[in-house]
Amino acid sequence: MEKIRQNIYPVFGKLRKRETKEKILGQKSRVIWFSGLSGAGKTTLAKNLEDKLSGMNFIVQVLDGDNIRSGINNNLTFSEEDRKENIRRISEVSKLFLDCGIITINSFISPTREIRHMAMDIIGREDFIEVFVNAPLEICEKRDVKGLYARARKGEIKDFTGISAPFEEPVNADIEIHTDLITIDESIEKLLEFILPKIKLSI
Ligand code: ADP
Repeated sequence: MEKIRQNIYPVFGKLRKRETKEKILGQKSRVIWFSGLSGAGKTTLAKNLEDKLSGMNFIVQVLDGDNIRSGINNNLTFSEEDRKENIRRISEVSKLFLDCGIITINSFISPTREIRHMAMDIIGREDFIEVFVNAPLEICEKRDVKGLYARARKGEIKDFTGISAPFEEPVNADIEIHTDLITIDESIEKLLEFILPKIKLSI
């Protein structure tokens, strides 16, 4: 192990640099940011993309409600102010991954232009790939994967995006996936076509 380390890190100081870590990992790090309504398909595509990229030996970390809202952001609500703080912290965490050479796939509703803009500002335009996972509200509500729309309609959940809180559609996303029109496999194919050139390390 020590021998491998010596070969990999010829100059110890270089270890601090992002490019050195990217070289070691054989990839360029980026933040792939999925936004869209609940039920639009963010989680499904994030997990499928993670599997696909991992299978190609990329080092990828998914950030989503499961690992963020239950940990670092477990003190935040869904009020407008807390949604902003949620995204601010996620963006800062993503930046740390970026500096380690790791690709993150972020799966968050990110409902407003202001919030998405803040994320892009913190992360940096060059490193930020914005994906709009787009399905009409009626379809998302019909899917109702977690039964949340039904509860929101009954008034049991307040500030629910699309029902009692706004969702401003991204207009300048780098890529848009209409999950009501194409299959999961087709969606992944389209994503890979756009993303692979940005994360492959040219030697
Ligand atoms: P979100 O994370 O955006 O709340 P989920 O991924 O949990 O949404 O749920 C989306 C649902 O839509 C899943 O049941 C998934 O199987 C279905 N679905 C149908 N077509 C697609 C597609 N092209 N991409 C992603 N999900 C799709």
